[in-house]
Amino acid sequence: MEGSAVHRRQRSPLAILATLAVLATAVIGGATSARAAAPPPTRVLIVLFDQMVPGYADQFDMPNFRRIRDAGTNFKQAYLGYMASETVIAHNVITSGQSPKHMGWVDEAYRDADNLLGKGAGAMHITGDLGLADFGTIVNAQGYPKLADYLHATYPGKSFITVGEKSYAVESATASTGDIAVRLSDRSGSSTFNDCRTLLGGRYRGPFGKNVPDYIGTPFCNRFWINSDAGNSYGTTAAFPSWMYPEDGNRFFPGTDASAQAGHLGGDTWVADAAIAMMQNEDWSGMFVTLGAIDKAAHMWGAQNDNGGGTCTTGAEQTHVKCAAANADVQFGRLLDAVAAVDAAKGGETLVVLTADHGATYGEDFHGKTTSGAGNSNWYYAPNGVWDFGAFDTSSYNNPSPALQPLRDTNNLSFVYSSTAVEAWLLDRSEAKMLEAAAAGLQLPGSTASYYRSGSGFKLFGTNKMPQSEKAWWKDHGQEIVDTMAAPNGPDVVVLMHDKTSYGVYGDHGGAQESVQRVPMVFWSPSLAYGVTTGRPFQTTDVMPTILQTMGIPLTAPVDGTARRLGN
Ligand SMILES: [Zn+2]
Ligand SMILES: [Zn+2]
Repeated sequence: MEGSAVHRRQRSPLAILATLAVLATAVIGGATSARAAAPPPTRVLIVLFDQMVPGYADQFDMPNFRRIRDAGTNFKQAYLGYMASETVIAHNVITSGQSPKHMGWVDEAYRDADNLLGKGAGAMHITGDLGLADFGTIVNAQGYPKLADYLHATYPGKSFITVGEKSYAVESATASTGDIAVRLSDRSGSSTFNDCRTLLGGRYRGPFGKNVPDYIGTPFCNRFWINSDAGNSYGTTAAFPSWMYPEDGNRFFPGTDASAQAGHLGGDTWVADAAIAMMQNEDWSGMFVTLGAIDKAAHMWGAQNDNGGGTCTTGAEQTHVKCAAANADVQFGRLLDAVAAVDAAKGGETLVVLTADHGATYGEDFHGKTTSGAGNSNWYYAPNGVWDFGAFDTSSYNNPSPALQPLRDTNNLSFVYSSTAVEAWLLDRSEAKMLEAAAAGLQLPGSTASYYRSGSGFKLFGTNKMPQSEKAWWKDHGQEIVDTMAAPNGPDVVVLMHDKTSYGVYGDHGGAQESVQRVPMVFWSPSLAYGVTTGRPFQTTDVMPTILQTMGIPLTAPVDGTARRLGN
């Protein structure tokens, strides 16, 4: 399907789904040309380690990851191939095979060019604050089928399930056609006092989402409710650099407070417990488990530069990357055991896919504000206001880093997103004003290359000097990656940054640097244990086509990725 992306279609979603149903009948009827030795997998489990750098598998205590990586097909040269390298983008690229420019949103900010969300044509929204229905609206307007649609057509009546801590990770992956979505709720109100708050020792979160099963959602304040009190931060509010984006209670880590000791464990342990319960109780064809702890730890302490964690025995140690990686691996081991039990009980085989939603770098050159809680106002700058959780907000995101001054001097900013790249949405989008902003971009500290929107892509405005190591990656991939943001909802100016440069929090991602783009990419099942590590090409848009090909399900609509062969 590689060439088809060039000829984008305007087919209605209903027409695509009708085609899916017809083809599914052919697959179930035995028309698939799967390998003779074993029938293709009948289920798929995607396990995503948020912000996992491939090297963590060997650096940290991750024996389960290493075992499956080494037994499966490991695409060691895999990278995202797109921007923004952010959670809210990857979770839909993986489940759709679409490049960001075709999937409806390309970044942490969203210009609603067609007024899909009803707040006005051109209104700016924070993508991570969109709800499940919003993601469904945007996906449906683009009209592409997702992994859940293909699985439904092939295995009618079986569920596609997504589970993780973060709302926007789970809900962007689910959109309108995922069947079950389970994530942590918003934090209970500061004035909410009830037995659950008493039991958990502070403000709390519980299971929330789409069709949350009763065995998870009831009774109220069961094991799936966890302490999420800012006063229970395991030291992260008191230390630099973690205080820029501190933890609240046991949201991302299991925890060691009294509530955790009583069994209300948070973080990736919470996610795995919910996932395993659903594996056992639901009839499912697909499950997407997204583990958020490594990302949180790495943002707080500086990703590859975090040397903390000690023996991973205290709550404070749990907040470090090393310990987050070790616990994620323990939980992955439990998921593997649960999948083996499902395969044994129900027959068929589950394809296991391991990946990350982006890599990481850290702010050896840090250009954000360093004050307590500065993360959000470093990332988001909306001088004229923005839609935030559905309400128009003119105050929260108007305290930018002083480093953005060259861009601010243009007096033409609608929105700026700053992480390991800087992207600007302009008010006046004439070519002259884009050139002015792109020139300002090259004045930003740490910048390497500045681009402005033109035609169906971006044009390079200019560059600053890069070391040879950065230059080689940029020459091969810079233009390719920036062009994936060319969409009406996306930025007008994109400024790439040097390695180890951040404007957001100390450990961060979002840009085009190699260490931010590289991700682990492993496919394995008991029958597809080829034990192959390959340098063959793989980008994250290839995940869905590769899953479908491996499961013997034909692609029936254009995607931007390519189905990659497993094994040698
Ligand atoms: Zn992420
Ligand atoms: Zn992140």
